[in-house]
Amino acid sequence: MATTDIGPPDYKEMLPEVIAKNYGKWKYHEDIKPGVFKHVSETGDEAFTVRCGSPRLVSVDLIRDLCDIADKYCDGHFRFTSRYNPEFITPNKDNIEPIIAAIEKIGLPVGGTGRGISNMIHTQGWIHCHGAATDASGVVKAIMDEMYDYFVGKKTLPQKLRISLACCLNMCGAIHATDLAVVGVHTRVPTIDHEHMTVLCELPTTQASCPTGAIRKHPDPNIKSVTVNDDKCMYCGNCFTVCPAMPIAHAEGDGIAIYVGGKVSNARKAPMFSRLVIPYIPNNPPRWPEVTSVLKNIVEVYASNAHPFERVGEWIERVGWERFFKLTGIPFVEQNIDDFELARDTLRTTTQFKW
Ligand code: SF4
Ligand code: SF4
Repeated sequence: MATTDIGPPDYKEMLPEVIAKNYGKWKYHEDIKPGVFKHVSETGDEAFTVRCGSPRLVSVDLIRDLCDIADKYCDGHFRFTSRYNPEFITPNKDNIEPIIAAIEKIGLPVGGTGRGISNMIHTQGWIHCHGAATDASGVVKAIMDEMYDYFVGKKTLPQKLRISLACCLNMCGAIHATDLAVVGVHTRVPTIDHEHMTVLCELPTTQASCPTGAIRKHPDPNIKSVTVNDDKCMYCGNCFTVCPAMPIAHAEGDGIAIYVGGKVSNARKAPMFSRLVIPYIPNNPPRWPEVTSVLKNIVEVYASNAHPFERVGEWIERVGWERFFKLTGIPFVEQNIDDFELARDTLRTTTQFKW
């Protein structure tokens, strides 16, 4: 394998033999049982995949344990899906049960396939990122403990359901197109550390970073700093991203917003954006009970009301957002109305309501 210092190596050099041999020739796949599926190729070859959950922030020891399983049963190959589910692929059907036993032995759940919930994708949270308005791994652990039965296949849903978390509006977690999205939000104007402004920040870049033009040069020419027009600030935190002298994190003000109804898939309908349903829930570590109960309620209402194969957004589009708010008991508040500058494209302008 050629080694360069530019970008990752070519993935095709690391494909399992059965995948490389049948590249572009797969005919169909079947769900065999929760966490296990089979791909069948035009050549008649079969590939069996065992998927499991991961804690997402993983230790070197856990990676070594996963590698041991791959060495023993999959010729040294395993992969992470884009939602961080480790997957073991083998052409040998007899390897399925030993792989499952080995995964369970290291404490990971097998599942995340079919009409259920797979791993939550999430960002860095308080463990690493300086801009986080909420934690990532902590909230995700609390949520997935509630959703466990939908992961391991003890309970099923009308269609697959994806949950994502981003700990600030930068949205490293790609929550904008996911069935249920958890987003960290700030609710306070950033403070300004005038003393360190010029050593930490460039003033023109800081001013230009604000999408609403709330940041202006300080009116006193002797003070090399900026001011913020509080009325224009929407607490996005963009200024803090470029200027550490404008901290926005706030112990009481930071919290979580819930978005619903997005999807990336092209199946049946075009990809859909998630929409805001709850603008703010205060952080309540270590288990965020308000957030987990809201999400569990939405999942259960969706499970008992959607048609088979309908994603959350497709179900809501069919019954109407009015009915979604009524069925889930979530109050419709003024923040649910998009009155920002792109509202022309997103606001529903019809006089027809489906109450
Ligand atoms: Fe940092 Fe925001 Fe990304 Fe979270 S979403 S890791 S706070 S930039
Ligand atoms: Fe501007 Fe956002 Fe900073 Fe507020 S938080 S001043 S809107 S960049």
